[in-house]
Amino acid sequence: MNQIRRRNFLKVLGLVTVFGLFGFVNKNSSIDDPMLKKGKKKIMKLRPHHILDIITGYGHGVEYKPHPYGHSQHIVAKAILSDLDIKIKLVIGADAVCQGCKHLLPDGQCDDVLQQLDPPISKQEYNDTLDYRLLDYLNINRDTVTTIREYLEIVNKKVPGIERICTHPKEDQKERLNGLTKGLINLGIRSDS
Ligand code: SF4
Repeated sequence: MNQIRRRNFLKVLGLVTVFGLFGFVNKNSSIDDPMLKKGKKKIMKLRPHHILDIITGYGHGVEYKPHPYGHSQHIVAKAILSDLDIKIKLVIGADAVCQGCKHLLPDGQCDDVLQQLDPPISKQEYNDTLDYRLLDYLNINRDTVTTIREYLEIVNKKVPGIERICTHPKEDQKERLNGLTKGLINLGIRSDS
């Protein structure tokens, strides 16, 4: 048990070090640092739906790995799944996941396009609309500072139901609900009954 705790501690320590680099990586960019400093603690900026994407993937048993886009979803996933008490700010805009992405422009906009939609739309527009809808549905203000645990507890009260908002185009709504539910159970946010 102690060994497991020690391994988890070292894993978290490594991740903290990686996140500490974000400010440096982003030094010459005009977008905000995705890790905001508040007092002595750092706060990770995250889009509400990016968190749900990670929890859903976790429920489906996805192993997060570096993506060809170069974004940081795999790093963020490990960080939030290993520490639910991590401080976050729920933003509508570029976040910690976007760090390193080839589609992230210096002004913080995303230049990717959702070609699977007819007509195709900008991912920036799609993401912003989705996150506004999610925060509205969850009755959370934009830029709220909270923890992953507190955010997921609010989400859990809207399961089922929230999948009608957060399911992406071409994704199956039942599968979305299934993954999100399992992810919440695996993290101890939801009881398995
Ligand atoms: S939202 Fe855009 S910039 Fe951010 S990770 Fe996705 S594709 Fe990259």
